[in-house]
Amino acid sequence: MTRQCSAPGCRNGSGLHQFPSNPELRLQWLRALGITDHDLVSRAAVCNEHFSPECFSNLTEVKMGFSKVLHLRSGAVPTKVAPPPARVTSQSGSLRLIMVQI
Ligand SMILES: [Zn+2]
Repeated sequence: MTRQCSAPGCRNGSGLHQFPSNPELRLQWLRALGITDHDLVSRAAVCNEHFSPECFSNLTEVKMGFSKVLHLRSGAVPTKVAPPPARVTSQSGSLRLIMVQI
């Protein structure tokens, strides 16, 4: 079985970070993703996409090409989780466009 990101709607299979073993932190991850422990497969993981840059301890090294794998700081919690698909996005996009035109 191939591993992939556990975030809803995300199918990334690389840049994965395994769920923390610390129960409290694990719960924070689950809440952030809007899923429960029950939804998780064994060896569940979340990809880079859902963490803000300051969550990574070696972002500079990776950007400079010294390292290929991003490492999470201890206590990092995913924050960038896409909301369920909604049509609202395109509406707010056109609203913004109208404001720009004015
Ligand atoms: Zn993901």
